[in-house]
Amino acid sequence: MKLIFERSMPGRGCSILPPCDVPAADLTGFEREKELHLPEISENDISRHYTELAKQTHGVNDGFYPLGSCTMKYNPKVNEAAAAFPGFTGIHPLQPASTVQGCLEVLKQAEELLCEITGMDGMTFQPAAGAHGEFTGLLLIKAWHQSRGDSKRTKIIVPDSAHGTNPASAAMAGFTIVNIPSSPDGCVDLEALRKAVGEDTAGLMLTNPNTVGLFDKNITEITRIVHEAGGLCYYDGANLNAVMGIARPGDMGFDVMHLNLHKTFSTPHGGGGPGSGPCGCREFLIPFLPGPRITDENGQLSLHSPETSIGCVKEFYGNFLVVVKALTYILMLGKEGIPEAASNAVLNANYMMHGLSDLYDMAFEETCMHEFVMCLEKLKHETGASALDVAKTLLDYGIHPPTMYFPLIVHEALMIEPTETESRETLDEAIAVFREVYARARKDGEALHQSPSTTPIGRPDEVTAARKPVIRYQF
Ligand SMILES: *Cc1c(COP(=O)(O)O)cnc(C)c1O
Repeated sequence: MKLIFERSMPGRGCSILPPCDVPAADLTGFEREKELHLPEISENDISRHYTELAKQTHGVNDGFYPLGSCTMKYNPKVNEAAAAFPGFTGIHPLQPASTVQGCLEVLKQAEELLCEITGMDGMTFQPAAGAHGEFTGLLLIKAWHQSRGDSKRTKIIVPDSAHGTNPASAAMAGFTIVNIPSSPDGCVDLEALRKAVGEDTAGLMLTNPNTVGLFDKNITEITRIVHEAGGLCYYDGANLNAVMGIARPGDMGFDVMHLNLHKTFSTPHGGGGPGSGPCGCREFLIPFLPGPRITDENGQLSLHSPETSIGCVKEFYGNFLVVVKALTYILMLGKEGIPEAASNAVLNANYMMHGLSDLYDMAFEETCMHEFVMCLEKLKHETGASALDVAKTLLDYGIHPPTMYFPLIVHEALMIEPTETESRETLDEAIAVFREVYARARKDGEALHQSPSTTPIGRPDEVTAARKPVIRYQF
């Protein structure tokens, strides 16, 4: 397929700018030295270009997309309609607060509702992604210990079933990571945790449900152990669609957490943004939250930074329109719909797991939450077909591959998250496809090395792409 620059023809174009309605500015001294390389394309060619691009990929609108840990669910179009209101899109972040009261109201209401859902007391929308929210939360933990003159708390405990971003964020925030193992049932090993905590423990980061799709049954015991040692508890709530409206991290003893609005709260993602990873906390950490925060004086909303704030982690209030979508989603679902969505996420995952568990080995046999992990080690050993081969073959059936080789604690892992928005018929079709691929692997495992055969690109050279990436077009 041609790049848009290769389709460009000098003099062609489709931009019709409105007549200038402000006095022309004098830009002498600011002119470009070299001409800007922009593609010159007719509207027809642009339309075909993007349609062709869209055909080369697989989105939720094309079919089932069970990418574990990513919640690639269907996002209702009404969210987009709300986020496209001119009152939301036509504002400027430096406008006086008195002229954007409605937008501040959106932020305030979203904060209140998400605090109610999570059991937190305050929340910032500045972080632009989940990992960014983790980083922010860790800075809150650090600021709190420092404010009490407790400088020896330098370690963050991270179970091996945590999402990979957890240890990375802790390291970025300047902490030392203490890794603790899971017990055979996939939950945190309590004895290992008791041994790990001490006077140097700043806190613990728990991904729950963890990366093998299990809700840690000892969760209140875990937060108790950490609190008794003087540490704080961080909840990675990126996958809150498994528990929202049913259980609250605040009630389980967590002090600080993040959410992924671009997973649970219905913003499409996967193409690189914009996202939102709000970071919520308990009352005692609110003074450290990033500013600006919204304050309400007799119904007049304004923006202020807390005196002891850790500072900004992103400009202004983060990706505002993603918050508009989240608020629309929450208000549309309401008090009944939110827990129903979570129940469906869990039901769908268990339904699929049970439809496959007589053929595929499950990493853990327990009832799962919103996702489950299969272990294809035996299949690979006996047939030569790996988790990668099975994943790639699914593409020929119009199914996006599950997450592969993650979590790291399961070998030949395929991690499947059907999400709550798929119908029973779609799940039945997907189960049938997974079963057929299994049968093909048993018959001729080596043949699956060639899959997929119906997609525009077969198997890209991932090693070269990672080692020698070409990320810039040379004119
Ligand atoms: C997706 C995810 C993250 C990271 O979120 P990003 O927006 O990609 O930074 C963190 N933790 C868990 C459990 C996740 O699933």
